[in-house]
Amino acid sequence: AASDVYKRQYHERVKKLLPGGVHYNFNLPWEESPIHYQRAKDSRVWDMDGKEYLDLYARFGAMIVGHGNKEYNDSLKEVMDRVLSVSHCDLDAEALEAIHQYVPSAEMIRFGLSGTEIVQNAIRIARAYTGRNRFVRFNNHYHGNADNIMGGHSTDPENPVPMDYRGDTKGTEGRAVGILEDQSYLIEWNDAELLEELLKAHGEEIAAVIMEPVCVNGGSIMPKPGYLQKVRSLCDTYGIVLIFDEIITGFRMGIGGAQTVFGVTPDLTTLAKAIAGGGVPVAAIAGKKEIMQLLTEKRVIHAGTFNGYPLGTAAVKATIDILSRDHGAAYEYMKAQAGKIHETLRKIAQAEKFPLVVQGPELCGAYHCCEKELEKPSEYISDIQIKDVILNAALQRNGILVSSISRIYPNITLSDQDVEWFEERAGAAIREAKELIDELYA
Ligand code: PMP
Repeated sequence: AASDVYKRQYHERVKKLLPGGVHYNFNLPWEESPIHYQRAKDSRVWDMDGKEYLDLYARFGAMIVGHGNKEYNDSLKEVMDRVLSVSHCDLDAEALEAIHQYVPSAEMIRFGLSGTEIVQNAIRIARAYTGRNRFVRFNNHYHGNADNIMGGHSTDPENPVPMDYRGDTKGTEGRAVGILEDQSYLIEWNDAELLEELLKAHGEEIAAVIMEPVCVNGGSIMPKPGYLQKVRSLCDTYGIVLIFDEIITGFRMGIGGAQTVFGVTPDLTTLAKAIAGGGVPVAAIAGKKEIMQLLTEKRVIHAGTFNGYPLGTAAVKATIDILSRDHGAAYEYMKAQAGKIHETLRKIAQAEKFPLVVQGPELCGAYHCCEKELEKPSEYISDIQIKDVILNAALQRNGILVSSISRIYPNITLSDQDVEWFEERAGAAIREAKELIDELYA
């Protein structure tokens, strides 16, 4: 079609100046071909020549209030016209109090912009608080695009320091030499005994344990019953700062994040994405007063030109206002709608005899092209990831966007018409994916 040629040409034009033609990249074995969108409303987005998509991508989960949400947009416009470029505005108290009200660990809060940056600041604070250097992280959890925390694997159970390895999708050239090995231990998640063994041997040198309380980046894997509680008590025993990276789950899994759902309060929480509704970037560190006090006392530096910018602060306030209204009815609604999508996808896959599971919390669930739900992030092997990507691309061709790699993110406007749109197109996508996968594995 003529429009496809135009789209390709536009992509080429962008690519001349933008490496790869994309704003971000991981070291993955497939080609990226971005869609250039022109407009969006509620759960739908339209590309440059008017092709319509159902947006379950939701900007990696950030976009929770729906595209073109009037209340949200009006709040941003109001502050934009009134006071844009100042370091503190008259919405600070309201935004901070809203987070404090709903996030149990948020005795005090600092704002930043990106998840990557706020995680690094949380680690700095934990190091200062404990006087220790190393932190513990977990296979296939993601905490941002920084040298010290992305990718690698560990092989020695006695000394599980992560190292670069060939074929790592989160591996990169140009990483500071030794930074992975020097700064962290990397172990399997959802295995309390393994953490206990590690802390028995090395607990005294560990400043922080950082994890996604639901491992969304590793495939939307729920913590085993009691796991988070056990981690909490181990951190207490060894004087370690427990950091929940709730950059996805915060204000998405429920209004108080995973920590409210599971009743386990970390020492520090990192937030980003949905906390500001999806239109503008805001990140936050929320934590115990005793620890956050290090910032008050200026023992720890935390800086950023745009921290607490009015547009972001207004977005946080508007988002929490919208999401908290009517005792969080928006969450019940999103859960129900996402549940319908999950069920539809399962049913269609079954009818097509296509191995598929949908797992994880409704608001940040994921499908996987395999027989059985993943229980540990290490089970999310590249074989499944590749099939997931093939289905993702097939869904996209059929007018359904899901997040990389296979996450399904509802927003508060996801309607029954959207569910129908999904129902009408998912079958074709599955048949296309099945054919491609059969070819690949023939
Ligand atoms: N932590 C988690 C759990 C994330 O999902 C992400 C983003 N995918 C990050 C940190 C990094 O956030 P950002 O992309 O805003 O730097």
